[in-house]
Amino acid sequence: MSKASGLPAHAVLSPGATIGILGGGQLGRMLALDAARLGFKVHVFCPDTGPAFDVSAAHTLAAYEDEESLAAFASQVDLVTYEFENVPARTAEIIARHCPLFPDARALATTQDRLSEKTFLASLNIPIAGFAEVNSVADLEAAVEKLGRPSVLKTRRFGYDGKGQTKIVDTTDLAAAFGVVGAQPAVLEAFVPFEREVSVVAARGRSGEFAAFDVTENRHENHILRTSTVPSALPASVQVDALDMAKRIADALEYVGVIGVEMFVLREDGRERLLVNELAPRVHNSGHWTQDGAETSQFEQHIRAIAGWPLGATGCFGEAQMTNLLGDEVNDWQALAAEPGVRIHLYGKGTPRPGRKMGHVNRVTVKS
Ligand code: AMP
Repeated sequence: MSKASGLPAHAVLSPGATIGILGGGQLGRMLALDAARLGFKVHVFCPDTGPAFDVSAAHTLAAYEDEESLAAFASQVDLVTYEFENVPARTAEIIARHCPLFPDARALATTQDRLSEKTFLASLNIPIAGFAEVNSVADLEAAVEKLGRPSVLKTRRFGYDGKGQTKIVDTTDLAAAFGVVGAQPAVLEAFVPFEREVSVVAARGRSGEFAAFDVTENRHENHILRTSTVPSALPASVQVDALDMAKRIADALEYVGVIGVEMFVLREDGRERLLVNELAPRVHNSGHWTQDGAETSQFEQHIRAIAGWPLGATGCFGEAQMTNLLGDEVNDWQALAAEPGVRIHLYGKGTPRPGRKMGHVNRVTVKS
């Protein structure tokens, strides 16, 4: 039984129930806003205050290792989800003892470690770049021997927006490169000479139902997402492949919630081919266009999936583009507000440091 409402653990969540969110960033904020629209209350658990705190009914400010606070939090909510994949596995275990956790602890453990994620993807025969485990400079030398240069060394955990990774080129000293990523468990990946990057943001419900948004084309600057555009330029048959891979991944994890699947598009013999780069066990920056450009936003879709509600329709209204507002670009809010058709989403963050995601705008052209 859930301690908060007395509901059986896996009952469909009714409006009025409380959803716990681990993590207090902008993704938690946008989840909380859509949860509120569906009549839910949100309780955020986070070690630091953040954008989600402004829009949620309750907060717990405590470390992810604080077992007492975790147990108290889990006893006050009807289920827990997360907006941040670096929640420790032990935290997930403690939560799951008290109330349902979606996506579950296995999905979290598989996707928060690049090595277990790649091993999982390879076991499904999902195409990925060649990779090798690296725990020492000697391992790195052997891995470079196998995968060649250029290649990319990435930490197994805690990498985001290109952090925790370094490119190995002809002149790179391998001991120095291992130092650059913190001399910690890592993987070496073959360099992918990709043409473009795309992603699939999809949801799987509690009974296995699946719904994907349109394949999104993503452009990065300095490893940080700049724009996401729909429709993508991918041929229809390759889009079908992309959606099929996302479904196979979600099914194999018995996943519940929204998942982001990042992919590279390669051109070989004049044809496009996909390699999966990375999974995100949560709502994803490349799905923000759905807030204004799709029949259901990815945030509402995640809440629907974890609450056991029917998934919403995922149709796209036409053409949509999301642009991240990085650093002091957020100061342009007045000009953006004056631009017809621009939908502004600001995260309420204090200091606009360079590259920091402060908000985003969506531009949608509705097809008649
Ligand atoms: P990641 O943190 O794995 O998402 O990587 C961040 C960005 O670095 C990707 O979106 C790519 O632009 C680039 N990148 C990552 N891995 C590779 C690779 N194996 N080959 C080429 N570029 C890569």
